[in-house]
Amino acid sequence: MAASSPANVHAPARIDLDRCIHCGLCLYACPTFRELGLEMDSPRGRIYQMVQVAGGSAPVGPSYIEHIGLCLACRACESACPSGVSYGRLIEGARAQIEAQCHRALPVRLLRNFLFNHLVLSPALLSIAGVLIYIYQATGLQRLTRATGILKLFGKLGKLERLTPHAEWPFFFRHIGKTFPAEGQRRYKVGFLAGCIANVCFARLNEATVRVLQKNGCEVVVPDGQGCCGALHAHVGQLEKARELARRNIDVFLAGDYDVILNNAGGCGSTLKEYPELLANDPAYAEKARQFRARLMDVNEFLAGIELNPAMGRIDEMVTYQDSCHLAHGQKVRSAPRKLLGEVPGLKLREMRLSDQCCGSAGVYNIVQHEMAMAVLEKKMEDVNATGATLIAASNTGCMLQLEAGVRIHGHGQRVLHVIQILDEAYRKAR
Ligand code: SF4
Ligand code: SF4
Repeated sequence: MAASSPANVHAPARIDLDRCIHCGLCLYACPTFRELGLEMDSPRGRIYQMVQVAGGSAPVGPSYIEHIGLCLACRACESACPSGVSYGRLIEGARAQIEAQCHRALPVRLLRNFLFNHLVLSPALLSIAGVLIYIYQATGLQRLTRATGILKLFGKLGKLERLTPHAEWPFFFRHIGKTFPAEGQRRYKVGFLAGCIANVCFARLNEATVRVLQKNGCEVVVPDGQGCCGALHAHVGQLEKARELARRNIDVFLAGDYDVILNNAGGCGSTLKEYPELLANDPAYAEKARQFRARLMDVNEFLAGIELNPAMGRIDEMVTYQDSCHLAHGQKVRSAPRKLLGEVPGLKLREMRLSDQCCGSAGVYNIVQHEMAMAVLEKKMEDVNATGATLIAASNTGCMLQLEAGVRIHGHGQRVLHVIQILDEAYRKAR
């Protein structure tokens, strides 16, 4: 079946598949190949399976779904590839193909529908979920269930509890629609994209981001009407929903006269930067998507590119930096976070081995492919622990949750903070 035939509109494009020259240079960059040693779970093997499906010699069946499903979509293979294979686009196409052609059991369909089409899109539902988690954590119930080991009775559900994010009350939703003035003379007007789940689980990170930008002469606007970037939807193959969300954010942010549009999560930023590709065939939005993209930056990238306010206090600690896959491999931003860490007085950066290997978070991967995610995390924590760092810096919210779980299970009490939170801490110490 041709990749462009109507039944196969959502599929890896032939032109992308043909770029692979089967050299295998990507194999050892791939966490699932390193873990399993199986060609079928390597980038080259997965591309081969996509080619077979595109050519009609293999079905979109259980084997295809299993091997495509086990991919972290971390895009480390893209960085390693000498042939310029756009693996991120291929895996999104393959997942869209599976989404369009495979029939899931009713409970799975209902759960996915609730998660992707209701929960992450609704501030009200996210707030309710956040309050429930907050009660569970603030009353000590979480500590109790973890200390007694009662969670073991709940099988996989009990294991997943280890990944429960902190609900950070008060939630960041209260700041949506507000404008925060620059400290001193205004140098930039910034539109800040606060995310969806981050409003509940990373409210303090979002507040720290606003403060650090204010310290650096930015007026920060958190425009009303913004919402989920669509990364979660794109990663599971729900490309139409991702497009709908992209259009909404584009309208909201192009309505403001921002010098720059910023976000603080590498995973979201990668999808935001790909809005022009996502909407390339939409005549009404293709140009708008390019205008949006032209003003969009990751907050690390922006701050590393301006003259930073140096009024910081000391943080006398050893830090190690975990690259966000979608910031490093997707957006090619590697030096900016390191540069910012280097600006903090007293802070010493010690690189871990394979810092740009995935930690196993990968959106909802650590929930749906829990065993593999935890195996990848264990290796990551060996590399983290070997540095002796007391602080783990990250640039993506999903990585932070996964690394926090890693510290609880395999670590030595290290703190896990976003690069921007470290800057914020340094600015606060200067007061
Ligand atoms: S995206 Fe990551 S897990 Fe998937 S094939 Fe590439 S390197 Fe392997
Ligand atoms: S994806 Fe790139 S590195 Fe991997 S086998 Fe194909 S051409 Fe080689």
